[in-house]
Amino acid sequence: MLVVMSPNASAADIDRVCEEITRQGFKPLPMPGEVRTAIGLLGDDAKVDWSYIEGLPGVASVLIVQKPYRQAAREWKQESTVVELAPGVRIGGREVPVIAGPCSVETEEQILLAARQVREAGAVALRGGAFKPRSSPYAFQGLGKQGLELLALARRETGLAIVTEAMDERGADLVAEYAECIQIGARNMQNYSLLRHVGRLGKPVLLKRGMAATINDLLLSAEYILAEGNPNVILCERGVRTFDSATRNLFDLTAIPVVQKLSHLPIVADPSHGTGLRDKVTPMARAAVAAGADGILVEVHPTPDKALSDGAQSLYPAQFQELVQQLRTIAAAIDRSITANA
Ligand code: PEP
Ligand code: MN
Repeated sequence: MLVVMSPNASAADIDRVCEEITRQGFKPLPMPGEVRTAIGLLGDDAKVDWSYIEGLPGVASVLIVQKPYRQAAREWKQESTVVELAPGVRIGGREVPVIAGPCSVETEEQILLAARQVREAGAVALRGGAFKPRSSPYAFQGLGKQGLELLALARRETGLAIVTEAMDERGADLVAEYAECIQIGARNMQNYSLLRHVGRLGKPVLLKRGMAATINDLLLSAEYILAEGNPNVILCERGVRTFDSATRNLFDLTAIPVVQKLSHLPIVADPSHGTGLRDKVTPMARAAVAAGADGILVEVHPTPDKALSDGAQSLYPAQFQELVQQLRTIAAAIDRSITANA
């Protein structure tokens, strides 16, 4: 439930509504807006005496959020959320940042070279997994803490913000120490204890859509993070499993406008995992920007043929450079721009 105050409501009116919400056993969450304040009501709001609240001074209307998720809903917050990853790197506004890098951090040479190459091409954040959720327990599992240290080194060398995955609570604490943004992978989208944990860390979280998750499931997972008081949630479309084996996953481009209508949270597109095939990444990245994605996450490797994971979907640096140039043109056509690096 959301109590929308009238534009001329006084601070005392707002306090009064908050007191009444507390009196009824719920938690008020005042959200000052540019024109008016809205007050969210946290908890199972089926039992609220909303007609009394509606009659209080300064109350314009009481809105019952019909969706199963609350704080993630557009009804809850009209203005789009902008998550600031680092100074000048905002996701959810007019600017569209490009986050790029290898699937995994492999060696110091590899990650430093990748960081320089993607920065040169126009990326503003570096991706790279230190903790890797691999389908096989015998496949390369990532360098762990050492990988995080190498990412921090790459940040010192290039100034790029770091986005990297955490697979469990302990890993999330470590990632929070080293990175600007904690990635929750597709396989963990419904790991609710991990979601609650990153909700308490307060750092920006990039939440990837599970491979068999509906958009409703994705938004409910985001709600777990928001419910812990962390508003910095970035959603990510990375494709879903279907019967068709022509591509690794079915990249759901429609999810971008669907999510943007249902939620105020930003959504970035990952055409690398979305397609699994290098030659499909460029067209789908272009399409994602045209569809209104708030950011692009793309795998780029200095030598994709030697990559320890996801080489087949990793762009060569020269391909990535060309892609970013094309994205600039596409963004301009819809009155947006690709975030420039300093
Ligand atoms: C990744 O980003 O390398 C990754 C493992 O992604 P996903 O969770 O989408 O499979
Ligand atoms: Mn990958």
